[in-house]
Amino acid sequence: MEGLIGVAIILAYVIGFATLCGSIFEGKGYERGVGNLVGGLLGIFGLLIAVVLPDRIKRKAYEEQARSAAAVQMAMATNIEKIASRPETAGTKICPDCAEAVKLDARICRFCRHEFASA
Ligand SMILES: [Zn+2]
Repeated sequence: MEGLIGVAIILAYVIGFATLCGSIFEGKGYERGVGNLVGGLLGIFGLLIAVVLPDRIKRKAYEEQARSAAAVQMAMATNIEKIASRPETAGTKICPDCAEAVKLDARICRFCRHEFASA
């Protein structure tokens, strides 16, 4: 009888850790089954592994955000460079609203009526 209780307690631990690790793994973007296996086999150590595991979902979102921000920045930089290096745009400024080249002294954009702050 006592042996049976011992087995039941061990089983409960294994299932508990397996379930816990499975949900942590899944929450971080990994296979739930792998988490179940790690938790079931390693118990508390499996749980530790699950806790220190890098978060795949968060990292992916962060990387995507950083990539798109860099792309936008690069596109803007090349665009401004391109416009500024055109010979017909020498002595002009770029309207922030319509991106057309306007004379440096202009106070109002001739394309969209954007008012420039008087310098
Ligand atoms: Zn304009």
